[in-house]
Amino acid sequence: MNRRAVVTGAGGFIGHHMVKFLKANGYWVRGVDIDAPEFEDTEADEFQLIDLREFDGCRMATREVEEVYQLAADMGGIGYITEFRADVARNNVLINAHMLEASRENQVSRYFFSSSACIYPMYRQESPDVAPLKEEDALPAEPEEGYGWEKLYAEKLCQYYLEEGKLRTRVARFHNIYGPYGTFEGGREKAPAAICRKLALARDGDEVEVWGDGRQTRSFMYVDDCVEGIYRILHSEHPDPLNLGRDDLISVDDLVDLIAHIAGKTIRKRHQMNAPQGVRGRNSDNSRLREVLDWEPTIPLEVGLERTYRWISSELERSGRLRRGELDGKSVMTA
Ligand code: NAD
Repeated sequence: MNRRAVVTGAGGFIGHHMVKFLKANGYWVRGVDIDAPEFEDTEADEFQLIDLREFDGCRMATREVEEVYQLAADMGGIGYITEFRADVARNNVLINAHMLEASRENQVSRYFFSSSACIYPMYRQESPDVAPLKEEDALPAEPEEGYGWEKLYAEKLCQYYLEEGKLRTRVARFHNIYGPYGTFEGGREKAPAAICRKLALARDGDEVEVWGDGRQTRSFMYVDDCVEGIYRILHSEHPDPLNLGRDDLISVDDLVDLIAHIAGKTIRKRHQMNAPQGVRGRNSDNSRLREVLDWEPTIPLEVGLERTYRWISSELERSGRLRRGELDGKSVMTA
């Protein structure tokens, strides 16, 4: 008999990849989301459109499965989570509280919650050459307003359900996941996807807008590493939250240069100092991840970005917004 799992948020970026990973590993999978995947059909055996802010919806989503991969959230890049704090916090608190209780009621055997590096205190992230964040750095708390507070609270809910024997919960704190089949325009996209889009649409020599002064730093993890890490963490015996990210830091300016190199374009940067830019520096300390799993993410940034850039370019081409083959093989914007 195949193992049975539900992936919530299966219409979104990481959830869509999680479904594929589980299918490739022989699972029967139910996908649940309020929206179907945007770019490609799901591989889930069953896909249900459900609003998980409703308790009855969570009950339906979690019936007759052994494993829950809770990846549904109202979220987006720094611009989105800064502008819509009330909606983001309220929607996610409802989803997470109801998903936990419904999973307990339906007696699922393992429950995964997708937390975020946004739970880490602002006071530890004030410099671009920041010390990598260890799991125990989370407290005393001063997380990202709205989104970060909600994630931290949902981590606590997972802890209480675990300690009281109600549910075997596992938690990972993701650090900036990127890759194909993720949103790359419209306001919810994150930095790597936004920069790939801007570079794909730029002509050689154009000016490209960069949020902040470009010296803010982050680490970025490719989505294939992310879904493998999720699977390993869910099946581990480690009860506490674990970082899931890469630990090689890069500045936003260097990220832009790397993507420009992949695109084969020379561009000038225009820094937008009044745009939201989040913390000054953030990196993952992977010591505990290595210790617990004897594994860590392996896909180098250049490799993952190359795949992501090619995919975003092909989507822009498909929608008629890029023409290829002109200007010495460079992409040309047509709209
Ligand atoms: P995403 O926005 O692509 O996917 C989230 C999905 O949740 C969307 O498809 C959305 O429609 C769905 N959703 C939202 N509200 C819902 C509701 N009420 N009912 C049902 N479905 C609903 O985001 P993602 O990047 O795939 O993120 C997945 C998880 O990982 C989220 O919990 C997110 O907070 C977390 N995370 C992601 C990153 C990252 O870099 N992508 C970083 C840290 C944490």
